[in-house]
Amino acid sequence: MDNLGIYLHVPFCLRKCAYCSFYSEAGYYDYSSYLAAVTRQIRQFSRRGDPGDRPSNQGEYYTRPLTSIFFGGGTPTMLPPAALSSLLAECRQHFPCAEDAEISIEVNPATVDFYGLNMLRQAGFNRLSIGVQSLHDRELRRIGRPHSATDAIQTAHLARQAGFTNINIDLMYGLPGQTLQTWQDSLAQTLALTPQHLSLYELTIEHDTPFARQHAQGGLPLPDEDTVLRMLEETQRMLRGAGFCRYEISNYALPGFECHHNINYWQNGEYIGLGPGAVSCLGGIRRNAVADVGAFCQLMENGQTVWQDEERLEPEAAFRETVIMGLRMTAGVSLPELRRRFGIDAEIYYGTTLVQLIQHGMLEIIVDRQLRLTEQGLLLANTAMAELV
Ligand code: SF4
Repeated sequence: MDNLGIYLHVPFCLRKCAYCSFYSEAGYYDYSSYLAAVTRQIRQFSRRGDPGDRPSNQGEYYTRPLTSIFFGGGTPTMLPPAALSSLLAECRQHFPCAEDAEISIEVNPATVDFYGLNMLRQAGFNRLSIGVQSLHDRELRRIGRPHSATDAIQTAHLARQAGFTNINIDLMYGLPGQTLQTWQDSLAQTLALTPQHLSLYELTIEHDTPFARQHAQGGLPLPDEDTVLRMLEETQRMLRGAGFCRYEISNYALPGFECHHNINYWQNGEYIGLGPGAVSCLGGIRRNAVADVGAFCQLMENGQTVWQDEERLEPEAAFRETVIMGLRMTAGVSLPELRRRFGIDAEIYYGTTLVQLIQHGMLEIIVDRQLRLTEQGLLLANTAMAELV
């Protein structure tokens, strides 16, 4: 069965972190119009497909069971737990859902307590993703997180008490002022919390963020490249020792706890995006909803489409995208599957480019004709992928 996910975007945060370029509104908000608009969008999708759907798509998406639901943000837990429970109930009421569907929610430690976590677990969320980023208060303050290390540790304990047995923790390395030692400390303390999954992202300086401005003025004391490389090496050593497998460039899991929702995305699968700023990818069409909560609510209320950009993916473009995204995973992409899906033989299509990447030790073709990045290729993934775009 082909996977189908829902991504529901909750675009609210307590305040903006200094590095973040995601669409979200900082501070408290009147959530009622957002909740009404998203509820309407869920019902609209399930009843007849979105107004922009092609006729051939109609009917398919509400008979095909969802394999994952992901509430992300922003900070979903800015919404009251009862509102989140009700949005999840709407999704499950209006779409068939596989029995073993992975149902995730992102939480920020500054916005949850035991009562809320317990309610989310009872509502049916079975995977929790905690945005921790660092377990050093100085680093947390420097990047503008609204919680302390103690809050984050407490949240992980409370999540377990609430019955979550599939917990992801997000951490960041390459932060201003971070040293190899503080990164190792954060990682060791995180492992002591016994999560099943870790997302470890290197800080990137995104346009139009406070960090971009500070960086331009020379005011960000970032660790040098060598230190960042050693952080990554140390990460591999510590996580391997703790039984984690790196299954994607930035993601590690205990066996069986890989994130289904993200795998569907990296496999260029289909997903329904709900809420302002969400992206939908269905029937070969990718669409972005307007990234403005006020405009989104107004459009939904008026019965107008919320999609502002639409891109029909031609088979060749979709093929290349599937290769690039698939190579993010350590398992790589299946050459026979690519041929089945797009009718394109990757070895012929990429020709000498592929041969050279293999000869330079960046890519390899292993059993079952999986094309994947080598250890060295993973370190230089962007360079290798740029050749295949
Ligand atoms: S909590 Fe997440 S989405 Fe919100 S500002 Fe910080 S990084 Fe961005």
